[in-house]
Amino acid sequence: MKKAISAGTLRFGEVSSLGPQRPRVLGFGFSQGPLLPLSPRLYNPPVRRRIKIIANPISGRGRARRLARRVADELRARGCDVVLAETAQAGDARRLAGKTGGFDAVCCVGGDGTVNEVANGLPQTAPPLGIIPSGTANVLAVELGLRRSAAALARTIAEGRELTWDLGVERPTGRKFLLFASAGYDAEVVRVFHARRRGPIQQWQYFWWGLKSYVDYEVPRIGVELDGCELTRRAAWVQISNVSAYGGPLVFTPRARPDDGAFEVMVQHSPYKRDVMRMFWAAILQYALGIEYRMRDVTFHQARRIRLWSADGRPVPVQIDGDPAGHLPFDGEIVPGGMRVLVP
Ligand SMILES: [Mg+2]
Repeated sequence: MKKAISAGTLRFGEVSSLGPQRPRVLGFGFSQGPLLPLSPRLYNPPVRRRIKIIANPISGRGRARRLARRVADELRARGCDVVLAETAQAGDARRLAGKTGGFDAVCCVGGDGTVNEVANGLPQTAPPLGIIPSGTANVLAVELGLRRSAAALARTIAEGRELTWDLGVERPTGRKFLLFASAGYDAEVVRVFHARRRGPIQQWQYFWWGLKSYVDYEVPRIGVELDGCELTRRAAWVQISNVSAYGGPLVFTPRARPDDGAFEVMVQHSPYKRDVMRMFWAAILQYALGIEYRMRDVTFHQARRIRLWSADGRPVPVQIDGDPAGHLPFDGEIVPGGMRVLVP
């Protein structure tokens, strides 16, 4: 019992037995109020008082600004001191995240791009990161099982558990990523789309630009080195992933976990463009019908350090956490437990 009361670190996928949820009664799934005459606070004391919230106000068509204020109000109602800082331009989130002295948690309102920026700005001694999702894909929020209501998010920030999260780090730049990096077709779509992007993204726009990019797409030849061993010089598409979710219904790396100290690397080998499309069909079939469609030209690997290069010299774009990140070569490694994030 004592162990259950003390605050600790939750491993990914573990279900918190603490927290304010009410116990189920005899497994029937309905509850009749708390069985124990103890307030949730006794189980899970509010450990975070001073909270910094960094909001990208244009994220989610203005939803971010409203949500940030509602969460701040909820936190203040819980007795927390809240500093709310809004970004005005790219780079602000990173700069604001650099000043975390005296805060018990730093929170970030926006999409996966804003979370990535904040993670890159956090100093090594930073408090845990809270995520208030308001972007388009919010892969991280889906992966963490965050709820959308301001009250639930405030509770997670003030009283939620901490989860250790493996960080991807690109070398030699030191750019961090939380979700994935890739080179190949999806990185090309991200590059083309972001070059024309105006304001917030909607999911259908990815679909549209995906089709448009496909018309002129040429399958690259990517060299792949995993933990110092060369795997191939003829890869068509490489996904380096920390999480199974990719965005929307798509799952390319089903066994990737953010706390196992390694990346799941998916390599598509086929040189034919039509096989790129088959990847998407396979992912959609899997989502819609639960059918696991095995692609014969796709292999999966676990690795801690990954080097990619263009084997025939053509420029091959790279995306990191859904944002364009230049072109190959790419050199990335994992820092196990590199950061802490807050979960319900
Ligand atoms: Mg992993």
